[in-house]
Amino acid sequence: MLQIVLVSTYDLGHQPFGLASPAAWLRQSGFQVNCVDLAVDSLPSEIVRQAHLVAFYIPMHTATRLAVEVFTHVRQLNPLAHLCFYGLYAPLNEVFLRKLGAQTILGGEYESGLLHLCHRLHSILAGSLSDQQTEPLVSLARQQFLIPDRCDLPELSKYAQLHWGSHPPRKTGYVEATRGCKHSCRHCPIVPVYEGNFRIIQKDVVLADIRQQVKAGAEHITFGDPDFFNGVGHAVPIVQALHQEFPKVTYDVTIKVEHLLRHSEHLPLLKETGCVVVTSAVEAMDDHILALLNKKHTVADFIQVVQLCQKAGLTLNPTFIPFTPWSSVTGYQEFLSSLFELGLAEQTSPIQLAIRLLITEGSMLFEIPDMQKQSENFNQQSLVYEWEHPDSTMDELYSDVLELVSSGMQKNQTRPEIFEALWNCASTKTSPHSSLPPLPLVPGRTDFPYLNEPWYC
Ligand code: SF4
Repeated sequence: MLQIVLVSTYDLGHQPFGLASPAAWLRQSGFQVNCVDLAVDSLPSEIVRQAHLVAFYIPMHTATRLAVEVFTHVRQLNPLAHLCFYGLYAPLNEVFLRKLGAQTILGGEYESGLLHLCHRLHSILAGSLSDQQTEPLVSLARQQFLIPDRCDLPELSKYAQLHWGSHPPRKTGYVEATRGCKHSCRHCPIVPVYEGNFRIIQKDVVLADIRQQVKAGAEHITFGDPDFFNGVGHAVPIVQALHQEFPKVTYDVTIKVEHLLRHSEHLPLLKETGCVVVTSAVEAMDDHILALLNKKHTVADFIQVVQLCQKAGLTLNPTFIPFTPWSSVTGYQEFLSSLFELGLAEQTSPIQLAIRLLITEGSMLFEIPDMQKQSENFNQQSLVYEWEHPDSTMDELYSDVLELVSSGMQKNQTRPEIFEALWNCASTKTSPHSSLPPLPLVPGRTDFPYLNEPWYC
């Protein structure tokens, strides 16, 4: 019997769908699967030693870096195991991962590829096939999904929870209703893999996955779709059915600014069906940078979305990339001022004020003529292309801001305290130091809902 270990290193504080979904496919075909979430548990050495296949799920950059560290250890424990990487960042880093020793790399819709790989390894054990990858590097095949099998994953209380004022934290489950994206933002790692496509997970499968997590104690559900309104006709019936069956369960979604405007008639429905947080990748408060990133929205669009969400009673959780090669010190000051004026200073997670543009393998950012000079600077440790800002003050500001946010979070400073520290720091970077007026510090609002896992990439 083929023994398989599926490993997740980090999935933004969620119980990993990327383990539970393929586990269902492989177990249904009779393979023995152990799921290991290293964000919560340690590596079970004995199980790894006996495995024929160890497959690492790498949906994001941080997960990939952590998986590369674990890979070497797994190789030492079991030099004979077939080693695979799957998920969004696998095909992006194919060359590097193959040099490391990975034998199979699967991106896009990976469940059918993993199943094929297991049948192939089964045949190899019987001596009838070679070890060569025959599965596509990226599959965009439309799959019939199975209900994810979460039986051996850590319980939901071990993962990020929804915090909301004085209410007790709500246990949070995680589902995906779509994967991929039909848009082409230049900095986004989904674009080179899905190339403007998205794929749905069937409604009955999504609802059954919600049902099993509610049974396991979930009071809140995160929809992990890159953009929940890519398929609005798929999304709306799902949240209607969710609310009808579980009227007390709340949820959060991620929707781009452009879609929040285009489908604004659905915002009241989101609220009515239990949506409490809408995350939106705003990225910049500068139309020139938004155009370079091909975001297809403007600052004015974002301001309109802030008003629409306020009117609908939805908490907006904006995410940003304030440090890019095109950002400036005055731009950062204006960014903080705008957040303050829009009433978003406390609603925005502090780490979002300290994000620096990541340029990964396959990045569409190289379409921008100025960026081509960075294409020689790939760092095999950090797995990104390194870049320096033309104005060294901006790199200093980034280091200072990151330090203030990290130490503030470690010291449990409130969001207003961290925001004020950043405000003061940004003020000192211009001469004379007077570009920003003193911040009228207000007591921190604590009554907005948020997930206690602030990271996002
Ligand atoms: S940033 Fe969001 S909207 Fe843009 S391509 Fe990526 S997932 Fe799609």
